[in-house]
Amino acid sequence: MDVSARRAFALLKELAYVRVSGSEEETKAALRLKEEIEKCGVAVQIEPFCVKSGIVKKALLKVTAPYEKTYEVTGYERSLSTPEGGLDGEFYYAENLLPVHLKNCKDKIVMINGRLRRADYEKLQNAGVAAILTFSGTTLDRNSETDCDIRKLRETMTDAFGFNVALNMRAADAAEIVRRGAAKMHIEVESECIDAQSRNVCAVIEGTKYPDEIISFGAHYDSVHFSTGVYDNMSGSVIIMELMRYFSVHKPDRTLKFNWYGSEEQGLLGSKAWVESHADELDKHVLMVNVDVAAATLGQNAAPTLATEGTVGYLDALMKEHGMACSVKLDIYSSDCIPFADHGVPAINLCRFGTQGAGYIHDRRDNLKSGYLDEKALDITLQQALMLAKHVVNAQVFPIERKISDEIRKKVDEYLFKATK
Ligand SMILES: [Zn+2]
Repeated sequence: MDVSARRAFALLKELAYVRVSGSEEETKAALRLKEEIEKCGVAVQIEPFCVKSGIVKKALLKVTAPYEKTYEVTGYERSLSTPEGGLDGEFYYAENLLPVHLKNCKDKIVMINGRLRRADYEKLQNAGVAAILTFSGTTLDRNSETDCDIRKLRETMTDAFGFNVALNMRAADAAEIVRRGAAKMHIEVESECIDAQSRNVCAVIEGTKYPDEIISFGAHYDSVHFSTGVYDNMSGSVIIMELMRYFSVHKPDRTLKFNWYGSEEQGLLGSKAWVESHADELDKHVLMVNVDVAAATLGQNAAPTLATEGTVGYLDALMKEHGMACSVKLDIYSSDCIPFADHGVPAINLCRFGTQGAGYIHDRRDNLKSGYLDEKALDITLQQALMLAKHVVNAQVFPIERKISDEIRKKVDEYLFKATK
């Protein structure tokens, strides 16, 4: 039994549908992955976990002065609902939230640039805004070819700074309301917070020689709204499936865990849940290998590594020895490697990033019809992952130090908002 990019790509095609955290489709994909694992005779279980989610039944925005026009908006999941009859307020464009902007925010419906990051949310909440408005996409977007993003007030925001009303609109509409001098608007949001279920698919192959040393391979299989997530990240999901097939036949010296994480796109919720419920075995973990985005025809290979310079040197040398092009760097990566590194487990990410103009992520263009992915490109990351796995899984002495450098430790803390102010 060898790995096969063809078989991997066929499975990717089969799972090329939207798989948002907590949705029926996410569950359907989990069951399909489980079925594939069972076919190889490998022990597998689905581990459900709770995700704080939301249903938005209504979202409306109407500029009421100096002109009247209703715009397309989406309500943030977990947004507060507006009071009965909606909320009427003054509109203020607070750009990038400089101190001058913040002085003018109180009790207004405030629009900001870019994503609603946690630090911005904190500022807006402290400034006492009546509601928050963000925009996404570009002013060039055609409505028929793009979607108005659906966003979420994450727990990391609401737990720390409370709830508010939040809406998202298209960039072109945002530009229009600013240009036309919108002064007053009427908004309505009907929203409900719910506890949804998401799932990790967890397979184990016991080590024959060093069963107490664990290497875990991970990939998230959920997607964002509107995206079929073939690049991000069914590509990684099918790659670790191939590794699992390989080691189901070539029995490993060390214990291997293969985890397909749900709800990564909502803030690494699957891997966070996993490290929490497997806290007792993290001490035995010697390495985590995460595959997140691959298969881009026009692209470049990278391995952001959350460990030490020594591990970077080791991986870089391995790649070179095998004539594999890969930019190995000591760095964090916004993916399921983070909760592992947070618990002291060295983590290596293997990625193939689509290059500019040929890499679509987090919207409807992450789709097989976009013509930017192929089987041969998927094989590049598959072969890199297999090469690394073959070296470390049966190494006489484990070649990677179980250590995270101070620099990476600091970045992980900041990523997880642990850093003290
Ligand atoms: Zn991803």
